[in-house]
Amino acid sequence: MSRNNRSFYLYFIVIVGLLLFTVWIGTLQVQHNGYTRGQFEKQLENNEVAIVNICPNKETPTGSLEITLKSGEERVLYVTDVEEMEQLVRSYDIDPTVENVPEESWFLNSILPILIVVIVCVFFFVMMNAQNAGGGGGGKMMNFGKSRAKLTMGGENQITLGQVAGLKEEKEELQEIVEFLKDPGKFTKVGARIPKGVLLEGAPGTGKTLLAKAIAGEANVPFFSISGSDFVEMFVGVGASRVRDMFAEAKRHAPCIIFIDEIDAVARRRGTGMGGGHDEREQTLNQLLVEMDGFGVNEGIIVMAATNRVDILDPAILRPGRFDRKITVAAPDVRGREDILKVHAKNKPLGDDVDLQQIAQTTAGFTGADLENLLNEAAINAAMDKRAFVKQEDIKKAFIKVGIGAEKKSRIISDKEKKITAYHEAGHAILFHVLPDVGPVYTVSIIPTGLGAAGYTMPLPEKDEMFMTKGRMLQDIMVSLGGRIAEEIIFDDITTGASSDIKKATKRARSMVTRYGMSDNIGVINYDDDDDEVFIGRDLAHAKNHSELISGEIDKEVKAIIDDCYQKAKDIILKNEDVLHKCAELLLEKEKINRAEFEALFDTYYPQPEEPGATIGTEV
Ligand code: ADP
Ligand code: ZN
Repeated sequence: MSRNNRSFYLYFIVIVGLLLFTVWIGTLQVQHNGYTRGQFEKQLENNEVAIVNICPNKETPTGSLEITLKSGEERVLYVTDVEEMEQLVRSYDIDPTVENVPEESWFLNSILPILIVVIVCVFFFVMMNAQNAGGGGGGKMMNFGKSRAKLTMGGENQITLGQVAGLKEEKEELQEIVEFLKDPGKFTKVGARIPKGVLLEGAPGTGKTLLAKAIAGEANVPFFSISGSDFVEMFVGVGASRVRDMFAEAKRHAPCIIFIDEIDAVARRRGTGMGGGHDEREQTLNQLLVEMDGFGVNEGIIVMAATNRVDILDPAILRPGRFDRKITVAAPDVRGREDILKVHAKNKPLGDDVDLQQIAQTTAGFTGADLENLLNEAAINAAMDKRAFVKQEDIKKAFIKVGIGAEKKSRIISDKEKKITAYHEAGHAILFHVLPDVGPVYTVSIIPTGLGAAGYTMPLPEKDEMFMTKGRMLQDIMVSLGGRIAEEIIFDDITTGASSDIKKATKRARSMVTRYGMSDNIGVINYDDDDDEVFIGRDLAHAKNHSELISGEIDKEVKAIIDDCYQKAKDIILKNEDVLHKCAELLLEKEKINRAEFEALFDTYYPQPEEPGATIGTEV
């Protein structure tokens, strides 16, 4: 529960308390201890009553009797007809006093309610201000259905792209958006369409927020920022109304940027929520989609969103006209890390023994935020030492502190691990390149992704293919096995790093056998009808539709495919062992290499599969 939420409940409790108190005060006056007319009449008959005071209500003939008994006790009786009661009392020879019908109490009836309202309002106001003063940019509690987007604009500390170190490709990709925001007219005139939404994907601390802010700063437009979790509230409808409000606000400030951090909090795949889905979140997401569809292409609003979990996002948000541009913000490579260190070292006097390049080399896997933190800790160390500049020693100390503190996020990677990863990725990459139906390789990287992988080899973005050929599937399996094979060739030992590769290869081989009828021994029969994985645990309850005998055959067949692929892949890698070494060395030096750098390592020419889009225009 957020701070805002909690304070709302506090107010809620206070208000309810006040109301209950008022009601209680009211009931005090009508307590009559179960005194009934029957008892009164009996007392009249027994001659126990001394004085009766009749008080008619404003709504005559109702009223009350204040009765004083001869014993001195006092009673109150509420009656529906005072005149009838007066006659009754008189018939017992008691002369009651009759009060006048009460005047409208001017104070009670008109001033008090107003006073209460005023007091409550003042109370709210004071509390709200107190909260705002204390909580900084938080949000006003009264803005319940209002957007909590924070607006930043211009000013002294405007961030520019120059302050974003590294991230060269990312910045290039975003350049057109800067241009567009600077002068939307330029684009509208020629009918160019600019993406409405840009999704920044990357581990926390890689500079996504910074990048979005820098774009706003560079284009000098207002920057609205909000976190996805701000939309998700206890009350249905609040999130949706906040989205509406935010877009309305943004339209007033166009051109501008809306930045939604942690968009996965709202845009999670719909219909997968535990316990029948989360209505509120779905409503919010729907509203977001409606708003994004609703504004025109060149209205000057660019919605940027950040997440580190693209895989759990609802595919609907990635559709054209929504977040149709996806930019991966990767953890920085050596050069990038050095640049980031330089940016953050600017306001910190460094001793002449400080070697930023060397620090960059030992911090593989550190994100921009980690590096900033590192230098900050170092500066603290210097200050503790009463020194006016930072020494290499301070940074070393900080390194241990930060490195161990943030262990989960960015492990410090040993040279040995780095080397293994380099060969592993080189193994994948070589197979991608040599095998005819897969590849080409776009990036090979040994920078940890922050999502568990030690590195990655990225071919071209997946093509939308109608079907896969058997050859292509076998080659995929070989590529998956390439990492492990390279480890095995180079090192005496093998590691656990290939487990997800192995899983992938096995899965593929199994589906070839049980689903696509690609194995001669098993034949063209489907032994796998668990197509939809809607129900977790379904496998358990699911009766097998084939015999143990067939199961054994399938396993044998899967193993045969994997073994065959393994052997073929190993032959290819062995034939290219020189490339393997060269590639691993280059990776160790640069941490990330691109297609051209990688392909230059080969002496032989291997034709690469056609790129999607490359054939557009030539195809009939
Ligand atoms: P994210 O939004 O991806 O979680 P942020 O943009 O909030 O990360 O980054 C946190 C901090 O890390 C920034 O305020 C900045 O100080 C530092 N940082 C991250 N990336 C960079 C970079 N490329 N250049 C300079 N500083 C960076
Ligand atoms: Zn691998």
